[in-house]
Amino acid sequence: MESVEAVVVGAGVVGLAVARALALAGREVVIIEAEDAIGTHTSSRNSEVIHAGIYYPKGSLKARSCVAGKRLLYEYCESHGVPHRRCGKLIVATDPSQIQELEGIKAKAHANGVTDVDFIPVEQAKSWEPELRCVAALHSPSTGIIDSHALMLAYLGDAEAHGAMLALKSPLIGGELLSDGFVLHAGGGEGITLKSKILVNSAGLRAPSVAKALEGFDRKFVPGEFYAKGNYYSLNRKSPFSRLVYPVPEPGGLGVHVTLDLAGQARFGPDVEWVDRIAYDVDPRRAERFYAAIRRYWPGLPDGALVPGYAGIRPKTAGPKEPSPDFEIQGPSRHGVPGLVHLFGIESPGLTASLALADTVVAELR
Ligand SMILES: Cc1cc2nc3c(=O)[nH]c(=O)nc-3n(C[C@H](O)[C@H](O)[C@H](O)COP(=O)(O)OP(=O)(O)OC[C@H]3O[C@@H](n4cnc5c(N)ncnc54)[C@H](O)[C@@H]3O)c2cc1C
Repeated sequence: MESVEAVVVGAGVVGLAVARALALAGREVVIIEAEDAIGTHTSSRNSEVIHAGIYYPKGSLKARSCVAGKRLLYEYCESHGVPHRRCGKLIVATDPSQIQELEGIKAKAHANGVTDVDFIPVEQAKSWEPELRCVAALHSPSTGIIDSHALMLAYLGDAEAHGAMLALKSPLIGGELLSDGFVLHAGGGEGITLKSKILVNSAGLRAPSVAKALEGFDRKFVPGEFYAKGNYYSLNRKSPFSRLVYPVPEPGGLGVHVTLDLAGQARFGPDVEWVDRIAYDVDPRRAERFYAAIRRYWPGLPDGALVPGYAGIRPKTAGPKEPSPDFEIQGPSRHGVPGLVHLFGIESPGLTASLALADTVVAELR
C-alpha cells in the first residue's frame, strides 16, 4: 500500500487551493478527483464574479473568507497573470419599496469592512449604463470578474511545482480511520489504496457523502446534502452593460443578475431550483421567468434574446425552508479526529474565498 502525507479529495477551485497551500507548506500531497479533468462541477459552473463581501452576516465564515479572499485573489491574479477585471457592480432597486433593503445591504457591507460600497445618484448610474432602469443604485467598486479555469490551472501549477500529484478518474469510494491516519480506497481503473496522515474532504456537492464513506467517522458531524440548482441564459447579442448589475437579493440566491465574461459576453442567472440529483441540463421553459425578472431593471430586453447557457448547483447543508447556512470547515477541534478536515457547504462566494479557505484549512492542520 502506498503511503502519502496528505490526500485532498476533489480538484475543484477550493480543493486545488488547499492542495497548493499544503504543498507550499512543505507537505507531500496527492489530489484525487473523480472526473477526468479538474473543475468540471461547481467551479466551472458559476458567475465567475470576484465578490466584494457585501451580503453575508457579520462575523460569518462567508463574510470573513470573502473579504480576505478577495484581497488575496486580486494579488494572486496580478502576480500569476490570471485574467481578471475589476469592473465594479451596481445593485439596484427598481421600486421605491426596495430602497430600505439597499440601505440594509450597504450597512451589511460596511459591517463586513467593505466600506467602499455606497449609493450613487440614479443619473450617474444611468449615464454609466444607459439601458438601466432603477430608482436607486449602490455601487461596489471592488467587485470583479475572473477566468475561473485559468485560476484553477494556476493553483494546480503551483501545487505540482511543489511536488503535489493529481490523480484523475479516481473517486474516493471508502476509507477507514486508523489511530495514526487513514486508509483510503479510490475506484476507477484498477483502483488504488492509499495510506495518509492527513485527509482533506473538498468534494463539493458530494462532501457529506464522502464524510459518510469514512468508516469510524461519527455521522453526527455530517450535515445534510442538498442541491440548489441555478440556471443561466446567455444574451445572443452585444451586452448593453459594461458593469455587473444585480437586483435586490431573493431567498436562496442573489437574484437574476447580469454578469459579463472577460470577452464581454453577458449572461443572466442564476435562479434557484431545488433538485435531488446532480444534472446540469437547462430547461428552456424557465426562460419566461427570466424575461420578467430582467425587464425590471432592463426593460429593453428584446423578445427571443435569451438562449439557454449552463447550470450550476449550490452545495447546501440545509434545505429550502431553513436559514441559509454558513460555510463549514470542520477540523479536529470540532470532531476530534487528528489530520481530518471536511469542507461543507462551500457555495458562493467559494471561488472568491478559495485562498482564504485554504489558509484556514492549513491552520486547522497545524
Ligand atoms: C450557481 C452558482 C454561482 C456561483 N457564483 C459564484 C461567483 O460568482 N463567485 C464566487 O466566488 N463563487 C461563486 N459560486 C461558488 C463557487 O463556484 C464554489 O464555491 C466553488 O466552485 C466550490 O469549489 P469546490 O472545489 O468546493 O467544489 P467543486 O468545484 O464542486 O469541486 C469538487 C470536486 O470534487 C470532486 N468529487 C466529488 N466526489 C468525489 C469523490 N468521491 N472522489 C473524488 N473526487 C470527488 C468533484 O468531481 C469535483 O471536481 C457559485 C456557485 C454556484 C452553484
